Amino acid sequence: MLSDEQDDALRQAAMDWLRIRTNDGLDALTSEEILEFQFQGEPRRLAATQQGIWKPHDLPAALAIRTTYRAEGQERPYDDNLGVDGLFRYKWRGDDPLHSDNRALRAAKDLGKPLIWWWGVGKAVYKPIFPIYLIDEEITQQQFVVATDGLQELPETGSAVEEVLRRYIQRETLQRLHQPVFRSMVMRAYGTRCSVCELGHSVLLDAAHIVEDRHELGVAAIRNGLALCKIHHSAYDAGILGVTPDLTIKIRSDILQEVDGPLLEHGLKALNNTPLRVVPKVRKERPDPELLEIHYQKFIAS
Ligand SMILES: [Zn+2]
Repeated sequence: MLSDEQDDALRQAAMDWLRIRTNDGLDALTSEEILEFQFQGEPRRLAATQQGIWKPHDLPAALAIRTTYRAEGQERPYDDNLGVDGLFRYKWRGDDPLHSDNRALRAAKDLGKPLIWWWGVGKAVYKPIFPIYLIDEEITQQQFVVATDGLQELPETGSAVEEVLRRYIQRETLQRLHQPVFRSMVMRAYGTRCSVCELGHSVLLDAAHIVEDRHELGVAAIRNGLALCKIHHSAYDAGILGVTPDLTIKIRSDILQEVDGPLLEHGLKALNNTPLRVVPKVRKERPDPELLEIHYQKFIAS
């Protein structure tokens, strides 16, 4: 068994390594890349081979949890959901509270240890959310309550600030968990390229929502997404650039009249009436024409 200090050191080293390997939380990792982690010169697993919950034999508590990617029409083995309080839930393994995996989760909760949440964003591709903490257990629902960093010690609820607090938690959870997972799914589907101009630098790319975020994850979310570079994302949101339901790029007419430098000429005007350059290979992951139509009507009106 590792000492408590070594346990903490291992978790800290894992989080530090993830920060570097994910470009400060921007990118996802493949199953193979996850195997590259080493602690004190030795390879160390950060994710289970099969099951969702990972507890190394020499640690007293779980180190990581996993949510499998759900492709269209497939159900996840477990449904990990956002509760009304804005915090995510992670289901027990099976329904035996004393299963070793569930005991490992309970130990992580009782010891207040930070964990890694591997969110499947494609086949064998995971977006790590870290650190996360298990702050409560809901036995009747057979699940643990998950908080992201900074939310693990919440002020008492039941006061006048409860509603404000709930909205704050929801916003934090969406920013720290939902948004990164959405980004990774969209980047994976578009091969980390702007769908308008093919720019392929992760740090210059965003996962844009076609219509306002409906808080879904999975294929439904990918179909409401477009990988766009910073310029084309801003142009899309500002109504300067539109995409028709049949994936043709449109540039606003007053912009087409303008004469200016190379970015305006090549980066915007020349794209008018050309098809999107990058779309997901998987047909089911392509933008939903109905959602594109909603945005396109707004574009025409602008
Ligand atoms: Zn672009």
